[in-house]
Amino acid sequence: MKAGKDAVVSIHYRLNDADGLAIESSRERGEPVAVLLGRGGLIAGVERALEGRTAGEHFSVTVAAEEAYGPRREDAIQRVPKKYFQHPERLKPGMVTTLALKQGGQQTVMVHKVGMTAIDVDTNHPLAGRDLSFDIEIVEVRAAQPDELAHGHAHGPQGHAHAEP
Ligand code: ZN
Repeated sequence: MKAGKDAVVSIHYRLNDADGLAIESSRERGEPVAVLLGRGGLIAGVERALEGRTAGEHFSVTVAAEEAYGPRREDAIQRVPKKYFQHPERLKPGMVTTLALKQGGQQTVMVHKVGMTAIDVDTNHPLAGRDLSFDIEIVEVRAAQPDELAHGHAHGPQGHAHAEP
């Protein structure tokens, strides 16, 4: 079976920076990553590179920032009062922390500057503005199950193991 819309593809991948150093690797975590294609679960450049592939293929793809996490936005630096941080006294420029959002959920941000009462944080994705290179091995391609199509994501080998309804 070929990878395409509504197929579940299991891959091992290594994400490298421009110098070939690994940023992250699915092998470090053990299990391959299963993704339901066509649902926005992957960055666009990787999704396109998987189209038409079959199990056992091993290839590399370089994705420009625009098709990965987008360009860095200079207006993404925001001033946030210290009371919104869990441990503001521990934060220094360059550190990554999470911020609870008013509308619920949380966002990963990088500390830009620490002031007296507020902290400037960079809300760009840590990989924004970077061209990314992936080394991908396709472990399995299979048809999605009806419950996976209904949920819009792939389920693991144990079936429906996640908490959402
Ligand atoms: Zn589900």
